[in-house]
Amino acid sequence: MVFFSKFLFQKLLKTYSGITLFPFILLKYNEKEMSEAAFKTLLNHEKIHFAQQAETLVVFFYPLYLFFYLKNRFRGQKHFQAYTNIPFEKESYEFESDLSYLKRRKFWAWKNFM
Ligand SMILES: [Zn+2]
Repeated sequence: MVFFSKFLFQKLLKTYSGITLFPFILLKYNEKEMSEAAFKTLLNHEKIHFAQQAETLVVFFYPLYLFFYLKNRFRGQKHFQAYTNIPFEKESYEFESDLSYLKRRKFWAWKNFM
């Protein structure tokens, strides 16, 4: 299920354009407010997170996400670098423009980005 909310992103998630909270994908802009290519890329990024969350039974996704983030911070990385180096994000950013990726993606593919 995909929802759109400017309010949420303006108030809470200022620097983000999308977030996936299984079973929901929340986006700041709808397809009329951005270019078609940018919208498809953003939605694909979030759909990859959707798959990651489903295969980590959702409840393991968030602790793992936090663990990888904190591990990167302990290694001295600044916030944005620590965030983009989370294996879940690395996979999503790597394949967000590849709209057929999810059809051939292997189970736990994010582990290749650890
Ligand atoms: Zn992401």
